[in-house]
Amino acid sequence: MAAPALKHWRATLERVEKFVSPRYFADCNLRGRLLGDTCPLAALSSFLTPDRLPYPEAVRQHFRPAQVGDSFGPTWWTCWFRVELTIPEAWVGQEVHLLWESDGEGLVWRDGQPVQGLTKEGEKTSYILTDKLEEGDPRSLTLYVEVACNGLLGAGKESMIAAPDPEKMFQVSRAELAVFYRDVHSLLVDLELLLGIAKGLGEDNQRSFQALYTANQMVNVCDPAQPETFPVAQALASRFFGQRGGESQHTIHAVGHCHIDTAWLWPFKETVRKCARSWTTAVQLMEQNPDFVFACSQAQQLEWVKSHYPGLHARLQEFACRGQFVPVGGTWVEMDGNLPSGEAMVRQFLQGQNFFLQEFGKMCSEFWLPDTFGYSAQLPQIMRGCGITRFLSQKLSWSLVNSFPHHTFFWEGLDGSRVLAHFPPGDSYGMQGNVEEVLKTMVKNRDKGRTNHSAFLFGFGDGGGGPTQTMVDRLKRLHNTDGLPRVQLSSPGRLFTALEGDSGQLCTWVGELFLELHQGTYTTHAQIKKGNRECERILHDVELLSSLALARGAQFLYPAAQLQDLWRLLLLNQFHDVVTGSCIQLVAEEAMCHYEDIRSRGNTLLSAAAAALCMGEPGPEGLLIVNTLPWERTEVLALPRSGGAHSLALVTVPSMGYAPAPAPTSLQPVQPQQPVFVVQETDGSVTLDNGIIRVRLDPTGCLTSLVLVASGREAIAEGAVGNQFVLFDDVPLYWDAWDVMDYHLETRKPVLGQAGTLAVGAEGGMRGSAWFLLQISPNSRLSQEVVLDVGCPYVRFHTEVHWHEAHKFLKVEFPARVRSPQATYEVQFGHLQRPTHHNTSWDWARFEVWAHRWMDLSEHGFGLALLNDCKYGASVRGSVLSLSLLRAPKAPDASADMGRHEFTYALMPHKGSLQDAGVIRAAYSLNFPLLALPAPGPAPAAAWSAFSLSSPAVVLETVKQAESSPQGRTLVLRLYEAHGSHVDCWLRTSLPVQEAVLCDLLERRDPAGHLPFRDARLKLTFSPFQVQSLLLVLGPARTETLPLGL
Ligand SMILES: [Zn+2]
Repeated sequence: MAAPALKHWRATLERVEKFVSPRYFADCNLRGRLLGDTCPLAALSSFLTPDRLPYPEAVRQHFRPAQVGDSFGPTWWTCWFRVELTIPEAWVGQEVHLLWESDGEGLVWRDGQPVQGLTKEGEKTSYILTDKLEEGDPRSLTLYVEVACNGLLGAGKESMIAAPDPEKMFQVSRAELAVFYRDVHSLLVDLELLLGIAKGLGEDNQRSFQALYTANQMVNVCDPAQPETFPVAQALASRFFGQRGGESQHTIHAVGHCHIDTAWLWPFKETVRKCARSWTTAVQLMEQNPDFVFACSQAQQLEWVKSHYPGLHARLQEFACRGQFVPVGGTWVEMDGNLPSGEAMVRQFLQGQNFFLQEFGKMCSEFWLPDTFGYSAQLPQIMRGCGITRFLSQKLSWSLVNSFPHHTFFWEGLDGSRVLAHFPPGDSYGMQGNVEEVLKTMVKNRDKGRTNHSAFLFGFGDGGGGPTQTMVDRLKRLHNTDGLPRVQLSSPGRLFTALEGDSGQLCTWVGELFLELHQGTYTTHAQIKKGNRECERILHDVELLSSLALARGAQFLYPAAQLQDLWRLLLLNQFHDVVTGSCIQLVAEEAMCHYEDIRSRGNTLLSAAAAALCMGEPGPEGLLIVNTLPWERTEVLALPRSGGAHSLALVTVPSMGYAPAPAPTSLQPVQPQQPVFVVQETDGSVTLDNGIIRVRLDPTGCLTSLVLVASGREAIAEGAVGNQFVLFDDVPLYWDAWDVMDYHLETRKPVLGQAGTLAVGAEGGMRGSAWFLLQISPNSRLSQEVVLDVGCPYVRFHTEVHWHEAHKFLKVEFPARVRSPQATYEVQFGHLQRPTHHNTSWDWARFEVWAHRWMDLSEHGFGLALLNDCKYGASVRGSVLSLSLLRAPKAPDASADMGRHEFTYALMPHKGSLQDAGVIRAAYSLNFPLLALPAPGPAPAAAWSAFSLSSPAVVLETVKQAESSPQGRTLVLRLYEAHGSHVDCWLRTSLPVQEAVLCDLLERRDPAGHLPFRDARLKLTFSPFQVQSLLLVLGPARTETLPLGL
């Protein structure tokens, strides 16, 4: 017997490392024996195309002879290779692989079906032709390899997130057949795991030395040139790995996963192929490993695969039946968690869950959003309303300032809804199955002693790729070994069931999950943000008007299929690298096309619904004024007049209803409202006054005074000016489009205007305005019209900017004569408070936050609200309200935000609370202008209202046709409590309602939810920020109208 090894840790460790090294001593070590004989291909030919062709079309093309070493490209093109091969007869009994190494992302096609992805970056460089060549097996075969000219993570020039290099060329560096030795592979896996254990547990640990000496012993007994020595080495490893842990071992649930960004550093169309490459590989792994489970999110991607790769889709359905392919998430895409509206978030689940139910027989039970930049406080309620009580993410581990205190916890939302949340403690969704990650998952778990289970998501991700057989082999080997956590190939369902059984001591986190990073994504790509807000509005209006047309006219066909298409486009754009603006130019352009599609088709649908709505009712003008909000509004509206002119009119339109357009002769006067007065002083300053607020602008356009007339109360801080544009240097640490860092605040530079540029626009009466120009920098300029209407409680700032900057951030500031330690921001279906000070690191990490249509700073009895029509970034520091307007990042899209922008914000001083003052309604009004829609014939003579509510606290957000509706005559209404109060509310309707019943967000009836409907109204009871949905079953259409009001 040989002498035992000397006690030298490093030498022993490195000896074993060299034995498995692909780099050193491969001429004599074990790694060098992984492959046996090789054999060239019988023939290789290729066909290059700029298009992404379907297989049948591609293989019909003219293929030219090709060879290893050939270059192809450029970026975004596709090279199809025809691979003709003959396996040597002498290889009978062996496992034979096609070895394929090329740049780009490959997909192997065999017999017309996609069978496996091939990417160097994803450690997939061989395709198993046979695991044992039998006598008489066919040995000649033709395969195709479709290689996309982009990497797993796009084609960034020099760095990953740099704008793509359009000229990149690609190369095949290896294409041949080889004999593969499975026993060598197993030994390599074991030795690498033993090395990992030795290193991971370290020199203080007994088990670490056992691993090291076992590995050393294996090297001693194993002669790479003599396979007959392998079983002895294997037995040594098996003895080690077979030594079991104790009962208290932590259990890791290893779930195969493959995060595929629906568009990011590559266009949407490439994602379709990424899904095929990644999931064919996953199917192969599921076939070969019956205990391997693959969790897959994003219905949109599955829908793409269903239409482009029906064979693959069928296989996924088979594996779903076996429980190996597990759809998760429940949403259409993994959307951004901050910017989408509440209704859009509901639609993510509605479209997603219905798709999963239809295609895979059941809905998802986990919400899955591992890579999104923060999570709204309303998500727990939305999840629960969509049949989900479990949530998985990990992105908060990216927070730059504070470390989130839990990995397993209850997450309580704005309304008190609670879900069980789990963040894989390894802080990743793309693990490789090595020991370091397994140990990290156990050691870093912040709920040690509270729960004994963790998730471990393995597989290449972001750009797809997914798990490999080697990862699965590693994890299986670590099934139950003393010194390590127990590793189970598991499913999300089994993980959460275990966590639920273990949840007695878990902590609760209340409110939003704020990511302390990527705060630039609230602002980057302003046009995408604007498209999002506008299209959310259009779909809201189309659904409402179509529902009303349906209720009133038996002939009207609700455009359900078209609306589904348009919603899916909007939801697609809400993906976490699209609406956030963190995508390449190609994606941003596609996103803008999607918005354009929604705008044009949506407006057509809107006109059709309006036409149907007033059919047959005689009236004076061919114009219908429509109010799509659930309260009566009196506003100034520009009405189109003959000859292309417009005239202003003050119109009153009932709640969710319409009014005839006033005849041109009846346009004036505006009594009893006070008209708007506009005065320009000799110093050039302008005052606008409508009797509610008085606005004073200095000669440069800055706001020197904003007074609430009735009380004489001044809203602008003493000695300061509002409407102050400010520029910041905006150079983050790395993630350009994503990040704005706290230090940008130290570079604040006010943009100073020139006196004498302010001029009067509209001269008063119905509307008063003043406008000015402002040179922001030598390259960028701005023009603004400050508008005050009769009867309007807020002043609007219509802004146009020509923006040509690099790494600058433009904001507008309003120092308020208000003092409060917290400001209020609108979020989905409600609002929340955030601090205005920087006491703790948790406070200052929120130096830039997101909001939807309004933010408000109030003290007792008085406040100032800042409204917007398409912005999301905001902050309040001390008493200064600040709205984030434009950024200028250069990666991954060098052209982001360059060019012309148009947006509107508004300022509303108010007495009392923001709720009592009507801030929420004002912000809705700014975002949902009254519509002047052409009617086909004469418009109706009388005003009409479909719905109204008795409480200002309740918002009727959505009216739509139910997804499954007998004869189409069931509507869904979604309402929420917007003030943060317990309230009873009467909903009144003039529609012919036969039955009213509560339902969940997926429109499933609540068996106990029947609502008495009498005298055209029904009663609802809300708790703070509660969302309620109900089904209204309509009777036959009728034409009489009910009196307005309650
Ligand atoms: Zn992602």
